[in-house]
Amino acid sequence: MYITKTDYLEYTFCRKNLWLRKHKPELFEGQELSEFEKKIIEEGNLADEAARQLFPDGVLIELVGMRAVPQTQNVLALKPSTLFQGAFSFNEFFVQADILRWNEVLHGWELYEVKATNDVKREVPHHHVNDLAFQKQVIESTGLRIVKAGVIHLNSEYRQKGTLNFQALFITADLTEEVLASEVAVHEEMEAMKIDLAGPEKKGCDCLYRGRSAQCTTFAYSYPQVPEYSVHDINRIGGSKALFYDWIDRSIFALEDIDNPEKLNGAKKAQYTAYMKGSPIIDHEGIKEMLSELVFPLQFFDYEGYSSAIPRFEGFGAYEQVPFQYSLHTLQEDGTLEHKEFLVRDPVGDFTRPLLDRMVKDLNPNATVISWYSTYEKQRNMKLAELHPDQADFIERINDNMFDLMTVFSQNYYVDAKFKGSASIKKVLPIVVPHLTYKALGIQKGDQAIERWEKMIAKSTPQTEKDQIAGDLLEYCKLDTFAMVEIYRFLMKLG
Ligand code: SF4
Repeated sequence: MYITKTDYLEYTFCRKNLWLRKHKPELFEGQELSEFEKKIIEEGNLADEAARQLFPDGVLIELVGMRAVPQTQNVLALKPSTLFQGAFSFNEFFVQADILRWNEVLHGWELYEVKATNDVKREVPHHHVNDLAFQKQVIESTGLRIVKAGVIHLNSEYRQKGTLNFQALFITADLTEEVLASEVAVHEEMEAMKIDLAGPEKKGCDCLYRGRSAQCTTFAYSYPQVPEYSVHDINRIGGSKALFYDWIDRSIFALEDIDNPEKLNGAKKAQYTAYMKGSPIIDHEGIKEMLSELVFPLQFFDYEGYSSAIPRFEGFGAYEQVPFQYSLHTLQEDGTLEHKEFLVRDPVGDFTRPLLDRMVKDLNPNATVISWYSTYEKQRNMKLAELHPDQADFIERINDNMFDLMTVFSQNYYVDAKFKGSASIKKVLPIVVPHLTYKALGIQKGDQAIERWEKMIAKSTPQTEKDQIAGDLLEYCKLDTFAMVEIYRFLMKLG
């Protein structure tokens, strides 16, 4: 069993999780990576490949894993100036380094890790300094000397203009001093990890004292006595440490067992009360007042956006969201409902221009535009204004007239314990409008929509498949805005 850099980073985040992955992999069976997780991995690989353009003399080790170790030794014997994906193992440890560059002056190797991030991260599990310190120790144990260490990351200021400028896209951060300072601590962690992984399973794990969002899927395995809906599900309970820890210390897991509910307040109190009552807590007057201020026709609006580590489109930078689709349901005061939509099928040239031109035709900037988590729509609008300043006034008016329907739920005007403290539309919709579902659709989640659009615009995708994906994307986005219409109607009926 080899311990990789990824293992080490996981270990610094959660020892128990790594132990279970190594010894009880069956607990993780059937847990496929989400489209979002797959995309993160793919973006990392693409950034790695792109950063190699900075070193045109580099030699790539094509093999992956332990088979790459002898190949690395063979290539090193030829004294390359730069080596990509050099593989090294020492005792139980194994690393494959993104970039090693020979420094003639210091007579040793510069070690660079390529990160598809906009800056240097120093929090577990993505601690770039510890990541480098781990690699340095393994590589130096095999006889090489590391004289510098750093991270090559994306430049958040860069915007694509014409062909990609790799020198401008990447920033090299020299972390040599920090890596040297962290070496002893990282070495101690590596030794402790060897002992932990070779030892028996430890009982329980730390997440008993953390809210649900921090837990991994093995929590129920470690704590079968904790009910499915427990104190861990109370909205942001991790922020009320004294109260939460006290319950856990006294084995109070079920909400029914809480003996000091008077200590709860705000959203936590509302969720607890709704749970104990068995029905929602509704601020009828507050909702009525909020909705009465909306100006007809109500325009339920939603974007889908694409982003990538390596910019693909003119005017956009690393991870900048590129709006490629919108759906709009317009509800008149007399109840008439009309649907409009736009999808970028072939993103060439100034493709956000036709999208914006259609918005100008479809939207009334003087009436209310309703979205869910409006920050996202407003930010996309501001980007369109930056790209097309001639429509900045129209966009500003759209943003000024935007109402975030999510606030009804995030600000506790309507609280159902079944939301489990979340105001996400994917949590709210099935509870308040159960007949409306994404389940029958070809696309069911935002991260899937991004992956599907990427596939649709690929030159290699056959036209029939492109058409199928376009249909799926339109259906998905349409349901997003229709869901808001139905939630609005539901709220109006509350009286
Ligand atoms: S539930 Fe939390 S502490 Fe337990 S193994 Fe998972 S991540 Fe680690």
